[in-house]
Amino acid sequence: MTAPSFPAPAGEAPAGLPALEARLRRDLAWLELPAKAWMPPGRVQAGQQAIDVAVVGGGMAGLAAAASLKLLGIQATVLDRAPAGYEGPWATTARMETLRSPKHLTGPALDLPALTFRAWFEAQSGQAAWAELDKIPRLQWMDYLRWYRRVLDLDVRNRHAVLAVLPRDDRLVALDVEAPDGRRRLLARRLVLATGRDGLGGPAVPETVRRLPRRYWAHSSDPMDYVRLAGKRVAVIGGGSAAMDCAATALEEGAAGVDLLIRRADIPRINKSKAANNPGFNLGHADLPDEWKWRLRHYINVQQVPPPRGSTLRVSRFPNARFNLGCALLDVEQAGEGLRIRTTRGVFDADFLIASTGFRIDWTARPEFAELAPHVRSWGDRFMPPDGEGDEELEAAPDLGRCFELQEKTPGRCPGLARIHCFCHPAALSHGTVSGDIPAISEGAKRLAQGIASLFYNEDIEYHFGQVQAYSEPEVFGDEWVAAEPPGTGRNQRGVTSEGMRDEG
Ligand SMILES: Cc1cc2nc3c(=O)[nH]c(=O)nc-3n(C[C@H](O)[C@H](O)[C@H](O)COP(=O)(O)OP(=O)(O)OC[C@H]3O[C@@H](n4cnc5c(N)ncnc54)[C@H](O)[C@@H]3O)c2cc1C
Repeated sequence: MTAPSFPAPAGEAPAGLPALEARLRRDLAWLELPAKAWMPPGRVQAGQQAIDVAVVGGGMAGLAAAASLKLLGIQATVLDRAPAGYEGPWATTARMETLRSPKHLTGPALDLPALTFRAWFEAQSGQAAWAELDKIPRLQWMDYLRWYRRVLDLDVRNRHAVLAVLPRDDRLVALDVEAPDGRRRLLARRLVLATGRDGLGGPAVPETVRRLPRRYWAHSSDPMDYVRLAGKRVAVIGGGSAAMDCAATALEEGAAGVDLLIRRADIPRINKSKAANNPGFNLGHADLPDEWKWRLRHYINVQQVPPPRGSTLRVSRFPNARFNLGCALLDVEQAGEGLRIRTTRGVFDADFLIASTGFRIDWTARPEFAELAPHVRSWGDRFMPPDGEGDEELEAAPDLGRCFELQEKTPGRCPGLARIHCFCHPAALSHGTVSGDIPAISEGAKRLAQGIASLFYNEDIEYHFGQVQAYSEPEVFGDEWVAAEPPGTGRNQRGVTSEGMRDEG
Protein backbone atom coordinates (compact mmCIF):
# COMPACT_ATOMS: atom_id res chain seq x y z
CA MET A 1 0.00 0.00 0.00
CA THR A 2 1.61 3.27 -1.07
CA ALA A 3 1.38 6.42 1.03
CA PRO A 4 -1.25 8.85 -0.22
CA SER A 5 0.14 11.78 -2.13
CA PHE A 6 -0.37 15.34 -0.99
CA PRO A 7 -1.61 18.14 -3.21
CA ALA A 8 1.18 20.46 -4.31
CA PRO A 9 1.15 23.57 -2.12
CA ALA A 10 -0.20 26.65 -3.86
CA GLY A 11 1.07 30.05 -2.76
CA GLU A 12 2.65 29.90 0.65
CA ALA A 13 5.29 27.34 1.58
CA PRO A 14 3.99 24.83 4.11
CA ALA A 15 5.95 24.65 7.32
CA GLY A 16 6.64 20.93 7.02
CA LEU A 17 6.18 18.13 9.52
CA PRO A 18 9.41 18.73 11.47
CA ALA A 19 8.21 22.28 12.25
CA LEU A 20 4.80 20.98 13.30
CA GLU A 21 6.38 18.39 15.52
CA ALA A 22 8.57 21.05 17.17
CA ARG A 23 5.46 23.13 17.74
CA LEU A 24 3.68 20.17 19.31
CA ARG A 25 6.63 19.56 21.64
CA ARG A 26 6.56 23.22 22.67
CA ASP A 27 2.78 23.18 23.24
CA LEU A 28 3.14 20.11 25.44
CA ALA A 29 5.99 21.74 27.37
CA TRP A 30 3.90 24.87 27.92
CA LEU A 31 1.08 22.71 29.24
CA GLU A 32 3.49 20.69 31.42
CA LEU A 33 2.46 17.52 29.65
CA PRO A 34 2.83 14.60 30.05
CA ALA A 35 2.30 14.84 33.81
CA LYS A 36 5.30 13.97 35.98
CA ALA A 37 5.49 10.39 37.22
CA TRP A 38 3.06 9.83 40.08
CA MET A 39 1.97 6.22 39.77
CA PRO A 40 3.42 3.61 42.15
CA PRO A 41 6.17 1.47 40.66
CA GLY A 42 4.64 -1.33 38.57
CA ARG A 43 3.23 -4.20 40.53
CA VAL A 44 5.20 -7.42 40.43
CA GLN A 45 3.22 -10.63 40.70
CA ALA A 46 5.03 -13.99 40.86
CA GLY A 47 8.11 -12.35 39.37
CA GLN A 48 6.18 -10.75 36.54
CA GLN A 49 5.77 -7.01 36.13
CA ALA A 50 2.15 -5.93 35.58
CA ILE A 51 1.35 -3.27 33.00
CA ASP A 52 -0.64 -0.34 34.41
CA VAL A 53 -3.11 -0.29 31.51
CA ALA A 54 -3.24 -2.70 28.60
CA VAL A 55 -5.28 -1.51 25.63
CA VAL A 56 -6.57 -4.12 23.19
CA GLY A 57 -6.79 -2.43 19.80
CA GLY A 58 -4.51 0.19 18.25
CA GLY A 59 -7.09 1.87 16.00
CA MET A 60 -8.15 5.46 16.51
CA ALA A 61 -9.90 4.77 19.82
CA GLY A 62 -7.01 2.75 21.27
CA LEU A 63 -4.48 5.39 20.23
CA ALA A 64 -6.56 8.22 21.68
CA ALA A 65 -7.03 6.29 24.92
CA ALA A 66 -3.30 5.52 25.21
CA ALA A 67 -2.41 9.14 24.43
CA SER A 68 -4.83 10.49 27.04
CA LEU A 69 -3.45 8.13 29.65
CA LYS A 70 0.10 9.07 28.75
CA LEU A 71 -0.64 12.78 29.12
CA LEU A 72 -1.91 12.01 32.63
CA GLY A 73 1.29 10.15 33.46
CA ILE A 74 -0.15 6.65 33.21
CA GLN A 75 1.72 4.04 31.22
CA ALA A 76 -0.40 2.24 28.63
CA THR A 77 0.63 -0.60 26.35
CA VAL A 78 -1.43 -1.11 23.21
CA LEU A 79 -1.75 -4.58 21.67
CA ASP A 80 -3.04 -5.00 18.13
CA ARG A 81 -3.10 -8.11 16.00
CA ALA A 82 -2.75 -6.08 12.78
CA PRO A 83 0.62 -5.24 11.26
CA ALA A 84 1.93 -1.76 12.07
CA GLY A 85 0.07 0.94 10.17
CA TYR A 86 -2.84 -1.29 9.20
CA GLU A 87 -4.97 -1.08 12.31
CA GLY A 88 -8.71 -0.61 11.87
CA PRO A 89 -10.62 -0.54 8.60
CA TRP A 90 -9.02 2.42 6.81
CA ALA A 91 -6.30 0.69 4.79
CA THR A 92 -7.76 -2.80 4.93
CA THR A 93 -11.50 -3.40 4.58
CA ALA A 94 -12.92 0.11 4.04
CA ARG A 95 -13.85 0.82 0.41
CA MET A 96 -14.93 4.44 0.39
CA GLU A 97 -12.81 7.03 -1.42
CA THR A 98 -12.95 9.59 1.37
CA LEU A 99 -14.02 9.67 4.98
CA ARG A 100 -17.75 9.96 5.48
CA SER A 101 -17.42 12.67 8.10
CA PRO A 102 -16.53 16.31 7.36
CA LYS A 103 -12.90 17.34 7.27
CA HIS A 104 -13.02 19.89 10.10
CA LEU A 105 -13.64 17.40 12.93
CA THR A 106 -10.75 17.42 15.35
CA GLY A 107 -10.96 13.68 16.08
CA PRO A 108 -8.33 12.27 18.43
CA ALA A 109 -6.40 15.57 18.84
CA LEU A 110 -7.19 15.83 22.58
CA ASP A 111 -7.50 19.65 22.46
CA LEU A 112 -3.97 20.02 21.10
CA PRO A 113 -4.15 22.17 17.92
CA ALA A 114 -0.86 20.82 16.56
CA LEU A 115 -2.21 17.28 16.80
CA THR A 116 -5.20 17.81 14.51
CA PHE A 117 -5.53 16.35 11.03
CA ARG A 118 -5.75 19.90 9.71
CA ALA A 119 -2.41 20.88 11.28
CA TRP A 120 -0.81 17.75 9.87
CA PHE A 121 -2.30 18.35 6.42
CA GLU A 122 -1.45 22.06 6.28
CA ALA A 123 2.10 21.40 7.45
CA GLN A 124 2.59 19.37 4.28
CA SER A 125 0.27 20.98 1.73
CA GLY A 126 -0.47 24.47 2.98
CA GLN A 127 -3.60 26.37 3.85
CA ALA A 128 -4.85 26.85 0.29
CA ALA A 129 -4.90 23.10 -0.24
CA TRP A 130 -6.83 22.72 3.01
CA ALA A 131 -9.40 25.23 1.81
CA GLU A 132 -9.78 23.27 -1.42
CA LEU A 133 -10.03 19.86 0.23
CA ASP A 134 -13.54 18.46 0.23
CA LYS A 135 -13.42 15.33 2.40
CA ILE A 136 -10.37 13.58 3.79
CA PRO A 137 -9.09 10.80 1.52
CA ARG A 138 -9.40 7.49 3.36
CA LEU A 139 -5.74 6.47 3.12
CA GLN A 140 -4.59 9.91 4.15
CA TRP A 141 -6.55 9.50 7.37
CA MET A 142 -4.68 6.25 8.01
CA ASP A 143 -1.42 8.04 7.35
CA TYR A 144 -2.37 10.72 9.85
CA LEU A 145 -3.08 8.04 12.48
CA ARG A 146 0.35 6.54 11.80
CA TRP A 147 1.92 9.96 12.39
CA TYR A 148 -0.18 10.48 15.55
CA ARG A 149 1.16 7.28 17.04
CA ARG A 150 4.74 8.11 16.10
CA VAL A 151 4.78 11.73 17.21
CA LEU A 152 3.30 10.84 20.61
CA ASP A 153 5.67 7.90 20.92
CA LEU A 154 2.89 5.56 22.01
CA ASP A 155 3.78 2.04 23.09
CA VAL A 156 1.97 -0.01 20.43
CA ARG A 157 2.84 -3.67 19.91
CA ASN A 158 1.65 -4.91 16.54
CA ARG A 159 1.00 -8.51 15.55
CA HIS A 160 -0.03 -9.11 19.15
CA ALA A 161 -3.36 -10.94 19.10
CA VAL A 162 -5.17 -11.14 22.42
CA LEU A 163 -6.50 -14.68 22.58
CA ALA A 164 -8.02 -14.63 26.05
CA VAL A 165 -8.96 -12.05 28.66
CA LEU A 166 -9.07 -13.50 32.15
CA PRO A 167 -10.40 -11.29 34.94
CA ARG A 168 -9.00 -12.22 38.36
CA ASP A 169 -9.81 -11.43 41.96
CA ASP A 170 -6.33 -10.12 42.84
CA ARG A 171 -6.68 -6.69 41.24
CA LEU A 172 -5.13 -7.84 38.00
CA VAL A 173 -6.41 -8.94 34.61
CA ALA A 174 -4.51 -11.65 32.75
CA LEU A 175 -4.19 -11.66 28.97
CA ASP A 176 -3.08 -14.52 26.77
CA VAL A 177 -1.30 -13.01 23.82
CA GLU A 178 0.01 -14.48 20.59
CA ALA A 179 3.03 -12.44 19.50
CA PRO A 180 5.59 -12.99 16.73
CA ASP A 181 7.97 -14.52 19.28
CA GLY A 182 5.39 -16.88 20.73
CA ARG A 183 2.52 -17.08 23.13
CA ARG A 184 2.67 -15.49 26.57
CA ARG A 185 0.58 -14.35 29.49
CA LEU A 186 0.58 -10.66 30.38
CA LEU A 187 -0.78 -9.06 33.52
CA ALA A 188 -2.37 -5.63 33.66
CA ARG A 189 -3.95 -3.62 36.43
CA ARG A 190 -6.65 -2.42 34.06
CA LEU A 191 -7.69 -3.35 30.58
CA VAL A 192 -9.27 -1.20 27.89
CA LEU A 193 -11.15 -2.90 25.06
CA ALA A 194 -10.70 -0.60 22.06
CA THR A 195 -11.65 -3.38 19.70
CA GLY A 196 -13.63 -1.40 17.17
CA ARG A 197 -17.05 -1.07 15.56
CA ASP A 198 -17.63 -4.82 15.95
CA GLY A 199 -15.59 -4.80 19.15
CA LEU A 200 -17.83 -7.14 21.15
CA GLY A 201 -19.13 -9.24 18.30
CA GLY A 202 -19.01 -9.42 14.56
CA PRO A 203 -21.00 -8.93 11.38
CA ALA A 204 -24.78 -9.18 11.60
CA VAL A 205 -25.60 -11.63 8.80
CA PRO A 206 -29.13 -12.96 8.11
CA GLU A 207 -29.36 -16.66 8.91
CA THR A 208 -30.45 -17.55 5.37
CA VAL A 209 -27.23 -16.02 4.03
CA ARG A 210 -25.07 -17.62 6.69
CA ARG A 211 -26.26 -21.05 5.55
CA LEU A 212 -24.87 -20.56 2.04
CA PRO A 213 -21.45 -21.93 1.08
CA ARG A 214 -18.90 -19.23 1.83
CA ARG A 215 -17.80 -18.87 -1.79
CA TYR A 216 -21.14 -17.25 -2.61
CA TRP A 217 -21.20 -14.43 -0.12
CA ALA A 218 -19.22 -11.94 1.94
CA HIS A 219 -19.99 -9.35 4.58
CA SER A 220 -19.15 -5.78 3.67
CA SER A 221 -16.39 -5.76 6.31
CA ASP A 222 -14.68 -8.92 5.03
CA PRO A 223 -11.27 -8.47 3.46
CA MET A 224 -11.82 -9.43 -0.16
CA ASP A 225 -10.33 -8.57 -3.52
CA TYR A 226 -13.29 -7.35 -5.54
CA VAL A 227 -11.46 -8.20 -8.76
CA ARG A 228 -13.06 -11.62 -8.37
CA LEU A 229 -16.46 -9.99 -9.05
CA ALA A 230 -15.53 -8.97 -12.61
CA GLY A 231 -18.25 -10.19 -15.00
CA LYS A 232 -20.44 -11.40 -12.09
CA ARG A 233 -24.03 -10.51 -11.18
CA VAL A 234 -23.76 -9.09 -7.69
CA ALA A 235 -26.50 -8.44 -5.14
CA VAL A 236 -25.86 -6.19 -2.15
CA ILE A 237 -28.21 -6.29 0.82
CA GLY A 238 -28.49 -2.85 2.40
CA GLY A 239 -28.63 0.79 1.46
CA GLY A 240 -26.21 2.40 3.89
CA SER A 241 -22.70 3.79 3.44
CA ALA A 242 -20.95 0.42 3.33
CA ALA A 243 -23.50 -0.94 0.84
CA MET A 244 -22.69 1.94 -1.52
CA ASP A 245 -18.94 1.42 -1.06
CA CYS A 246 -19.23 -2.29 -1.84
CA ALA A 247 -21.54 -1.77 -4.82
CA ALA A 248 -19.29 0.93 -6.27
CA THR A 249 -16.14 -1.15 -5.81
CA ALA A 250 -17.78 -4.17 -7.47
CA LEU A 251 -18.89 -2.05 -10.41
CA GLU A 252 -15.47 -0.41 -10.73
CA GLU A 253 -13.93 -3.87 -10.83
CA GLY A 254 -16.18 -4.81 -13.74
CA ALA A 255 -19.18 -6.54 -12.18
CA ALA A 256 -21.81 -7.34 -14.84
CA GLY A 257 -24.39 -5.57 -12.70
CA VAL A 258 -25.21 -4.78 -9.09
CA ASP A 259 -28.65 -5.02 -7.49
CA LEU A 260 -28.93 -3.12 -4.25
CA LEU A 261 -31.66 -4.81 -2.20
CA ILE A 262 -32.88 -2.04 0.10
CA ARG A 263 -35.57 -2.95 2.62
CA ARG A 264 -36.80 0.61 3.11
CA ALA A 265 -39.19 2.27 0.73
CA ASP A 266 -36.81 5.21 0.56
CA ILE A 267 -33.17 5.90 1.38
CA PRO A 268 -32.87 8.04 4.53
CA ARG A 269 -31.98 11.62 3.70
CA ILE A 270 -30.99 13.12 7.02
CA ASN A 271 -28.23 12.07 9.39
CA LYS A 272 -30.00 12.67 12.69
CA SER A 273 -26.95 11.81 14.74
CA LYS A 274 -25.24 14.94 13.40
CA ALA A 275 -27.64 17.02 15.48
CA ALA A 276 -26.53 15.08 18.52
CA ASN A 277 -22.87 15.98 18.08
CA ASN A 278 -22.46 18.87 20.45
CA PRO A 279 -20.81 19.36 23.85
CA GLY A 280 -24.12 18.86 25.64
CA PHE A 281 -24.66 15.45 24.10
CA ASN A 282 -21.04 14.38 24.35
CA LEU A 283 -20.64 15.43 27.96
CA GLY A 284 -24.19 14.96 29.20
CA HIS A 285 -25.40 11.69 27.73
CA ALA A 286 -23.73 9.57 30.40
CA ASP A 287 -25.70 11.44 33.10
CA LEU A 288 -29.10 11.15 31.43
CA PRO A 289 -31.78 8.98 33.02
CA ASP A 290 -31.93 5.54 31.40
CA GLU A 291 -35.22 6.32 29.65
CA TRP A 292 -33.66 9.26 27.81
CA LYS A 293 -30.51 7.37 26.87
CA TRP A 294 -32.62 4.64 25.39
CA ARG A 295 -35.06 6.97 23.63
CA LEU A 296 -32.26 8.89 21.92
CA ARG A 297 -30.25 5.91 20.77
CA HIS A 298 -33.36 4.04 19.66
CA TYR A 299 -34.55 7.05 17.65
CA ILE A 300 -31.18 7.33 15.88
CA ASN A 301 -31.19 3.58 15.20
CA VAL A 302 -34.64 3.69 13.68
CA GLN A 303 -33.97 6.77 11.57
CA GLN A 304 -30.72 5.27 10.26
CA VAL A 305 -27.80 7.16 8.81
CA PRO A 306 -28.02 7.99 5.10
CA PRO A 307 -25.15 7.01 2.82
CA PRO A 308 -23.00 10.01 1.83
CA ARG A 309 -24.11 11.70 -1.39
CA GLY A 310 -20.69 11.15 -2.98
CA SER A 311 -20.77 7.41 -2.26
CA THR A 312 -24.29 7.12 -3.70
CA LEU A 313 -23.31 8.99 -6.87
CA ARG A 314 -20.28 6.73 -7.17
CA VAL A 315 -22.75 3.85 -7.63
CA SER A 316 -25.47 5.55 -9.65
CA ARG A 317 -23.10 6.71 -12.37
CA PHE A 318 -23.01 3.09 -13.52
CA PRO A 319 -25.96 2.21 -15.76
CA ASN A 320 -25.82 -1.37 -14.51
CA ALA A 321 -26.45 -0.35 -10.88
CA ARG A 322 -30.03 -0.86 -9.73
CA PHE A 323 -31.49 0.63 -6.55
CA ASN A 324 -34.31 -1.76 -5.55
CA LEU A 325 -36.31 -0.03 -2.82
CA GLY A 326 -38.88 -1.66 -0.57
CA CYS A 327 -37.03 -4.88 -1.26
CA ALA A 328 -36.66 -6.92 1.92
CA LEU A 329 -34.76 -10.20 1.81
CA LEU A 330 -36.96 -13.25 2.43
CA ASP A 331 -34.51 -16.04 1.75
CA VAL A 332 -31.72 -17.11 -0.51
CA GLU A 333 -30.63 -20.47 -1.86
CA GLN A 334 -28.04 -21.90 -4.12
CA ALA A 335 -29.42 -22.51 -7.62
CA GLY A 336 -27.01 -24.32 -9.91
CA GLU A 337 -23.82 -22.28 -9.93
CA GLY A 338 -25.59 -19.13 -8.76
CA LEU A 339 -28.02 -17.81 -6.17
CA ARG A 340 -31.76 -17.37 -6.16
CA ILE A 341 -32.71 -14.52 -3.86
CA ARG A 342 -36.36 -14.14 -2.86
CA THR A 343 -37.40 -10.67 -1.74
CA THR A 344 -40.61 -8.76 -1.11
CA ARG A 345 -40.15 -7.37 -4.62
CA GLY A 346 -39.63 -10.61 -6.45
CA VAL A 347 -36.82 -13.03 -7.19
CA PHE A 348 -33.29 -11.96 -8.12
CA ASP A 349 -30.66 -14.20 -9.66
CA ALA A 350 -27.06 -13.42 -8.74
CA ASP A 351 -23.62 -14.98 -8.71
CA PHE A 352 -22.45 -13.36 -5.50
CA LEU A 353 -24.11 -11.74 -2.50
CA ILE A 354 -22.68 -9.04 -0.25
CA ALA A 355 -24.39 -8.56 3.10
CA SER A 356 -23.96 -4.97 4.11
CA THR A 357 -26.05 -5.57 7.15
CA GLY A 358 -24.02 -3.97 9.91
CA PHE A 359 -22.61 -5.43 13.09
CA ARG A 360 -23.98 -6.86 16.28
CA ILE A 361 -22.87 -7.65 19.76
CA ASP A 362 -22.26 -11.36 19.77
CA TRP A 363 -19.95 -12.66 22.44
CA THR A 364 -19.78 -16.07 20.77
CA ALA A 365 -18.01 -14.43 17.82
CA ARG A 366 -15.25 -13.33 20.23
CA PRO A 367 -13.58 -16.37 21.78
CA GLU A 368 -11.09 -14.05 23.51
CA PHE A 369 -13.92 -12.86 25.78
CA ALA A 370 -15.39 -16.30 26.57
CA GLU A 371 -14.36 -16.10 30.26
CA LEU A 372 -16.01 -12.78 30.95
CA ALA A 373 -19.00 -12.81 28.57
CA PRO A 374 -21.43 -14.74 30.83
CA HIS A 375 -20.85 -12.25 33.64
CA VAL A 376 -21.36 -8.98 31.76
CA ARG A 377 -24.54 -7.13 32.61
CA SER A 378 -26.29 -5.87 29.52
CA TRP A 379 -29.03 -3.27 29.28
CA GLY A 380 -31.52 -6.02 28.53
CA ASP A 381 -30.73 -7.58 31.93
CA ARG A 382 -32.13 -4.66 33.86
CA PHE A 383 -33.97 -2.19 31.66
CA MET A 384 -37.48 -2.63 30.29
CA PRO A 385 -37.94 -0.40 27.25
CA PRO A 386 -41.22 1.46 26.90
CA ASP A 387 -43.82 -0.03 24.53
CA GLY A 388 -42.88 0.43 20.91
CA GLU A 389 -39.21 1.09 21.71
CA GLY A 390 -37.92 -2.48 21.76
CA ASP A 391 -34.47 -2.66 20.21
CA GLU A 392 -32.39 -5.85 20.10
CA GLU A 393 -29.16 -3.97 19.46
CA LEU A 394 -29.63 -1.80 22.53
CA GLU A 395 -30.70 -4.71 24.71
CA ALA A 396 -27.39 -6.44 24.01
CA ALA A 397 -25.33 -3.34 24.84
CA PRO A 398 -23.19 -3.64 27.97
CA ASP A 399 -24.46 -1.62 30.90
CA LEU A 400 -21.32 0.35 31.73
CA GLY A 401 -20.20 2.27 34.78
CA ARG A 402 -18.94 5.86 34.87
CA CYS A 403 -15.51 4.93 33.55
CA PHE A 404 -16.74 2.59 30.79
CA GLU A 405 -16.18 -0.35 33.14
CA LEU A 406 -18.10 -3.59 32.63
CA GLN A 407 -20.44 -4.48 35.47
CA GLU A 408 -21.36 -7.87 36.83
CA LYS A 409 -24.68 -9.47 36.06
CA THR A 410 -24.61 -11.10 39.48
CA PRO A 411 -22.54 -9.13 42.00
CA GLY A 412 -19.62 -11.14 43.34
CA ARG A 413 -19.49 -13.72 40.55
CA CYS A 414 -16.62 -12.11 38.63
CA PRO A 415 -14.86 -9.63 40.88
CA GLY A 416 -12.25 -8.54 38.34
CA LEU A 417 -14.77 -7.57 35.69
CA ALA A 418 -14.88 -3.89 36.59
CA ARG A 419 -11.18 -3.64 35.72
CA ILE A 420 -12.16 -4.03 32.08
CA HIS A 421 -13.25 -0.84 30.33
CA CYS A 422 -15.28 -1.02 27.15
CA PHE A 423 -14.03 1.77 24.89
CA CYS A 424 -15.60 0.74 21.62
CA HIS A 425 -18.85 1.34 19.77
CA PRO A 426 -21.10 -0.79 22.05
CA ALA A 427 -20.48 1.78 24.81
CA ALA A 428 -22.68 4.28 22.98
CA LEU A 429 -25.91 3.58 24.86
CA SER A 430 -24.24 4.15 28.24
CA HIS A 431 -21.90 6.99 27.24
CA GLY A 432 -23.03 8.52 23.93
CA THR A 433 -21.00 8.30 20.72
CA VAL A 434 -17.66 9.07 22.33
CA SER A 435 -15.92 5.73 21.90
CA GLY A 436 -15.68 4.97 18.19
CA ASP A 437 -16.58 7.64 15.67
CA ILE A 438 -14.30 10.54 14.85
CA PRO A 439 -16.39 13.49 16.12
CA ALA A 440 -16.12 13.00 19.90
CA ILE A 441 -13.38 10.43 20.34
CA SER A 442 -11.26 12.90 22.33
CA GLU A 443 -14.10 13.51 24.79
CA GLY A 444 -14.39 9.78 25.37
CA ALA A 445 -10.64 9.24 25.66
CA LYS A 446 -10.31 12.02 28.23
CA ARG A 447 -13.26 10.69 30.24
CA LEU A 448 -11.76 7.21 30.21
CA ALA A 449 -8.25 8.34 31.17
CA GLN A 450 -9.42 10.71 33.91
CA GLY A 451 -11.67 8.01 35.32
CA ILE A 452 -8.83 5.49 35.33
CA ALA A 453 -6.51 8.03 37.01
CA SER A 454 -9.06 8.47 39.77
CA LEU A 455 -9.56 4.72 40.19
CA PHE A 456 -5.81 4.17 40.44
CA TYR A 457 -5.40 6.98 42.93
CA ASN A 458 -8.15 5.65 45.16
CA GLU A 459 -6.87 2.11 44.97
CA ASP A 460 -3.31 3.22 45.78
CA ILE A 461 -4.25 5.74 48.45
CA GLU A 462 -1.95 4.17 51.06
CA TYR A 463 0.99 4.52 48.71
CA HIS A 464 0.05 8.12 47.91
CA PHE A 465 -0.42 8.97 51.58
CA GLY A 466 3.02 7.47 52.20
CA GLN A 467 4.38 9.68 49.43
CA VAL A 468 2.85 12.74 51.08
CA GLN A 469 4.32 11.75 54.43
CA ALA A 470 7.75 11.00 53.01
CA TYR A 471 7.87 14.18 51.00
CA SER A 472 10.79 16.21 52.34
CA GLU A 473 11.71 19.03 49.99
CA PRO A 474 11.78 22.28 51.99
CA GLU A 475 10.46 25.48 50.47
CA VAL A 476 11.48 27.79 53.33
CA PHE A 477 14.52 27.21 55.50
CA GLY A 478 13.78 28.96 58.81
CA ASP A 479 16.07 31.93 58.15
CA GLU A 480 13.32 33.96 56.51
CA TRP A 481 11.71 35.26 59.75
CA VAL A 482 12.30 35.92 63.44
CA ALA A 483 9.93 34.54 66.03
CA ALA A 484 8.63 37.20 68.36
CA GLU A 485 9.17 37.03 72.18
CA PRO A 486 5.97 36.70 74.16
CA PRO A 487 4.27 40.07 74.68
CA GLY A 488 5.62 42.08 77.64
CA THR A 489 9.26 41.02 77.41
CA GLY A 490 9.93 44.07 75.30
CA ARG A 491 12.40 42.36 73.02
CA ASN A 492 12.58 39.96 70.22
CA GLN A 493 15.11 37.23 69.65
CA ARG A 494 17.65 39.60 68.16
CA GLY A 495 17.53 41.74 71.29
CA VAL A 496 15.72 44.66 69.66
CA THR A 497 13.18 46.43 71.91
CA SER A 498 9.69 47.06 70.71
CA GLU A 499 10.70 50.72 70.22
CA GLY A 500 13.37 49.61 67.79
CA MET A 501 16.32 50.34 70.17
CA ARG A 502 19.01 47.71 70.65
CA ASP A 503 18.85 46.63 74.28
CA GLU A 504 22.42 46.40 75.60
CA GLY A 505 21.38 45.19 79.07
C1 LIG B 1 -15.77 1.22 6.59
C2 LIG B 1 -15.89 2.18 7.72
C3 LIG B 1 -15.85 3.53 7.47
C4 LIG B 1 -15.98 4.45 8.52
N1 LIG B 1 -15.94 5.78 8.26
C5 LIG B 1 -16.10 6.68 9.27
C6 LIG B 1 -16.05 8.08 9.04
O1 LIG B 1 -15.88 8.54 7.93
N2 LIG B 1 -16.22 8.91 10.09
C7 LIG B 1 -16.41 8.46 11.36
O2 LIG B 1 -16.53 9.24 12.28
N3 LIG B 1 -16.44 7.13 11.60
C8 LIG B 1 -16.31 6.24 10.61
N4 LIG B 1 -16.34 4.89 10.88
C9 LIG B 1 -16.62 4.46 12.26
C10 LIG B 1 -15.35 4.49 13.15
O3 LIG B 1 -14.72 5.74 13.10
C11 LIG B 1 -14.38 3.42 12.72
O4 LIG B 1 -14.98 2.16 12.88
C12 LIG B 1 -13.06 3.45 13.50
O5 LIG B 1 -12.20 2.54 12.92
C13 LIG B 1 -13.27 3.16 14.96
O6 LIG B 1 -12.00 3.13 15.59
P1 LIG B 1 -11.68 2.05 16.69
O7 LIG B 1 -10.32 2.33 17.18
O8 LIG B 1 -12.82 2.03 17.64
O9 LIG B 1 -11.74 0.65 15.94
P2 LIG B 1 -10.78 0.07 14.83
O10 LIG B 1 -10.20 1.16 14.01
O11 LIG B 1 -11.56 -0.97 14.12
O12 LIG B 1 -9.60 -0.60 15.65
C14 LIG B 1 -9.81 -1.77 16.40
C15 LIG B 1 -8.51 -2.53 16.44
O13 LIG B 1 -8.63 -3.56 17.40
C16 LIG B 1 -7.85 -4.64 16.96
N5 LIG B 1 -8.30 -5.84 17.66
C17 LIG B 1 -9.58 -6.27 17.81
N6 LIG B 1 -9.60 -7.39 18.53
C18 LIG B 1 -8.32 -7.69 18.85
C19 LIG B 1 -7.70 -8.73 19.59
N7 LIG B 1 -8.40 -9.71 20.16
N8 LIG B 1 -6.35 -8.71 19.72
C20 LIG B 1 -5.61 -7.72 19.17
N9 LIG B 1 -6.15 -6.71 18.46
C21 LIG B 1 -7.49 -6.70 18.30
C22 LIG B 1 -8.06 -4.69 15.47
O14 LIG B 1 -6.98 -5.32 14.80
C23 LIG B 1 -8.16 -3.20 15.13
O15 LIG B 1 -6.96 -2.67 14.62
C24 LIG B 1 -16.19 3.97 9.85
C25 LIG B 1 -16.22 2.60 10.09
C26 LIG B 1 -16.07 1.71 9.04
C27 LIG B 1 -16.10 0.24 9.36
